[in-house]
Amino acid sequence: MNSQAVYRGWSASSTPGPRPIGLVVVLLVGVAIVPATAERAVKTTHPRTDLRTGPSREHNRITVLPPGIRLWADDYVDGFYRVPLCPVLHAWVSREQVQPLDRSLPRPQIHAVTDISVKGIEPGSLATIRLAEPVAYRVRQQLHPPALILDLFGVNLARYGVRQRPSDRCTWAVVAEQVADGWAQVTFHLTFSQQRGWRVTQHDGALMLLIRNPYRGDTLDHKVIVLDPGHGGRDSGAVGPTGVREKDVNLRIALRLVELLAERGATARLLRDSDRALSPGGASQREELEARLAASEQPDADLFLSIHNNAVGSGDPARAFGTETYYWTPMSVLPARILQNHLCQRLRTNNRFISWRPFYVLRSGDVPRVLVECAYVSNPSEEQRMRGDEFTESAALALRDGLEDFFATVAAS
Ligand SMILES: [Zn+2]
Repeated sequence: MNSQAVYRGWSASSTPGPRPIGLVVVLLVGVAIVPATAERAVKTTHPRTDLRTGPSREHNRITVLPPGIRLWADDYVDGFYRVPLCPVLHAWVSREQVQPLDRSLPRPQIHAVTDISVKGIEPGSLATIRLAEPVAYRVRQQLHPPALILDLFGVNLARYGVRQRPSDRCTWAVVAEQVADGWAQVTFHLTFSQQRGWRVTQHDGALMLLIRNPYRGDTLDHKVIVLDPGHGGRDSGAVGPTGVREKDVNLRIALRLVELLAERGATARLLRDSDRALSPGGASQREELEARLAASEQPDADLFLSIHNNAVGSGDPARAFGTETYYWTPMSVLPARILQNHLCQRLRTNNRFISWRPFYVLRSGDVPRVLVECAYVSNPSEEQRMRGDEFTESAALALRDGLEDFFATVAAS
């Protein structure tokens, strides 16, 4: 039986047309057997499961979870399960991103945190939070004063102390608080302002948060930059009025940037170095973006840069021109600002804006991530510039100088 049929919110409008009598009988029998509440456990299956404020993809994200986290669903509306994170906060998750579990599984208990400690390891500081099973969480980054704030849901603190080992160099204070029943919060106050990223893993009865060490050195020497030349293969990206393809311009800039970075001692890792997609043929655009994001999450990377050129969705293509830069995590704001300024100065383009935007390849906290739209391929005069080498050279030089300026700025602050 389709279990969704007994959830509240499964309205007649979502099953148009008459039902066969057999199905009605099955439904009636089902209602008699299934508990009236129709609640059940679900488990996240998507690599980045979105927990949202309401039952649609238009609603904002509360957090993004990895696979394997068990949630409790107490309602179902329009393809979304409602999942209480704690008594005072609930989220909604698409049925496409979770797997319903056996109805006999009981509602999970609120877990007790029995121990929190922080120690220094090679790539950074590692916080270990003892928990019986993987839980839903959220990491938020604060710039001033610099901090990482970890919310743990379905969790109560059984012990308030946090042990900071002498080897931990990233935090100067770690404070654990109970926000509400079933909602604990751990704030890591950091010893440096420009953050370099974090990673959460959950296994062996613990949640572990790695806070990456701050940047070292004021130059590009020994830095690792992951470069994503946008689009490729069947996906041309934007196409200009005389046929210039965005994917070709993006790749030319990226290939030149690799050479310029190498001259300064940096390593550039390209997600593609030819006209191709990363995922196998037939993959959806979302699958391709997930493949790019997964490939770009490299443990020794210092920064991720996605290179694009823009196009107007509607309106007069002659009137939209210039440069835009996007970020998602707060630690990405500074490199976004610096790269935007270098692009506009070197390319002599219209400085449109920098903007927070949840573009798929920006949705990871592993390193600062920036997406640049160098100019408008849909604009006739900017498209003409993209045909020549001067545009490629200037864009690549601007990005190289911007990255160099970013590391120097961080070292000087
Ligand atoms: Zn693009």
